[in-house]
Amino acid sequence: MTKLVNHWIDGARTGGAGGAADIFNPAVGEVDGQVVLATVEEVDAAVAAAARAFPAWRDTSLTKRTQILFRFRELLDRHRDEVAALISSEHGKVHSDALGEVARGLEVVEFACGIPHLLKGGFSENVSTRVDSYSIRQPLGVVAGIAPFNFPAMVPMWMFPVAIACGNTFVLKPSERDPSASLLIAELWQRAGLPDGVFNVVQGDKVAVDRLLAHPDVKAVSFVGSTPIARYVYETGTAHGKRVQALGGAKNHMLVLPDADLDLVADSAVSAGFGSAGERCMAISVVLAVDPVGDELVEKIVSRVRNLVIGPGDDPTSEMGPLVTAAHRDKVASYLDIGVQEGAKIVVDGRETPVTGGRGNGFWIGPTVLDHVAPGSRVHREEIFGPVLSIVRVRSYEEGLRLINSGEYGNGTAIFTNDGGAARRFQNEVEVGMIGINVPIPVPMAFYSFGGWKDSLFGDTHVHGTEGVHFYTRGKVVTSRWLDPSHGGVNLGFPTNA
Ligand code: NAD
Repeated sequence: MTKLVNHWIDGARTGGAGGAADIFNPAVGEVDGQVVLATVEEVDAAVAAAARAFPAWRDTSLTKRTQILFRFRELLDRHRDEVAALISSEHGKVHSDALGEVARGLEVVEFACGIPHLLKGGFSENVSTRVDSYSIRQPLGVVAGIAPFNFPAMVPMWMFPVAIACGNTFVLKPSERDPSASLLIAELWQRAGLPDGVFNVVQGDKVAVDRLLAHPDVKAVSFVGSTPIARYVYETGTAHGKRVQALGGAKNHMLVLPDADLDLVADSAVSAGFGSAGERCMAISVVLAVDPVGDELVEKIVSRVRNLVIGPGDDPTSEMGPLVTAAHRDKVASYLDIGVQEGAKIVVDGRETPVTGGRGNGFWIGPTVLDHVAPGSRVHREEIFGPVLSIVRVRSYEEGLRLINSGEYGNGTAIFTNDGGAARRFQNEVEVGMIGINVPIPVPMAFYSFGGWKDSLFGDTHVHGTEGVHFYTRGKVVTSRWLDPSHGGVNLGFPTNA
């Protein structure tokens, strides 16, 4: 019997009344199970469970909430391997990489364990004579998270630990391609003592997303996915009066100045370009090689790429797994032809890469390096989201900066140099949300906030860190006076701070 992945509503697995979709094992290219696709009624049931759980959870003390968060943290830590194995079997990424994403998600849980401190308000004594003012932040109610396929554990954990710690109740809509990790996480929450209804999972597709965006009881939506859907979610959700943060796609450049250590640059470019088969929103997909380093750098990159071991995620010797679906693999492969038509040179062709221990029908394409990619060409500009590293030759820092700033995305970027002045200038001038200085994948730690600029983020609040706390709460300011007889008398004047 194949596995059936269904919803988690009000503390129990349930559903589905509607259709279902196949879940594949990308390393073998075969169907490995089915995921139910929520009907509107099932989404409504999840939101209703979350709405019922909200008043009691909002009123649960900060210390009690924190104790549950700490227990959840311990359980997640103990079950890392299991979560990673589920991710690897449905997404295809290698086990060590899946463990890495669980670790980064865990860091957000640890950040959320500090919620008593994070929710402290301000207090001003005697703002007027014997009048005090103070600010508090309160949860919104039911909030929803909609996740992409590429980080089935980490991206939801950018959202729900902070949302729940703040006193909200949560409905998660995972990607239908790799939905299993979300159910294991729901079980761990329950074992940690989270009351039923505080964390719910609805599996599904556009039907589920559209219902969450329109549901009057959903107060805020966090979305992570491709740019067209992020824009749609932002516009639809805000049109329904909701608070929305919608993180979109990316095309991240690494600018290499001539004074950089080219061996370190090559190590970083290969790690950041081909880790998780390039299916990371912070992957480096373009190397901007400032003259004269191009030829030497390409040689160093190619020699490393040829040594990469491509194979199934559950084989500990594999360094890179398959792509998530056959259709995505074919789309990525089509960019190799597009690149050649645009004048680029294929120096490593992933279509010819041998796969260690993989079976013929897996969704394989090996690491590919395209050199002499024309600035402004489709291969340079468009998000390919696969193991394709483009090298663009540029004459100067200024030309590289212009190319980065002229792109539609602004998620991440990196500069490699030993010149502190150039690095400082870059961090000041580049129009991108997350910058690495000799760091190829500058994903902010949980206590900072993650988010890009331009078409990589719709909305104005980044995820996790203090911006996450801000997103999942709203402010109140209280002005208070404890009356005594000296306050007597009617005064129709506007209150001033006498
Ligand atoms: P996607 O946009 O196809 O799907 C994301 C979510 O939206 C899924 O839950 C999916 O079910 C839902 N969805 C898909 N089509 C929809 C539609 N027409 N209407 C309503 N909902 C819809 O993205 P994906 O392929 O799962 O993930 C890869 C993309 O996510 C890449 O573009 C990547 O850059 C991006 N991403 C961005 C970040 C970031 O932080 N900016 C992080 C991870 C991934």
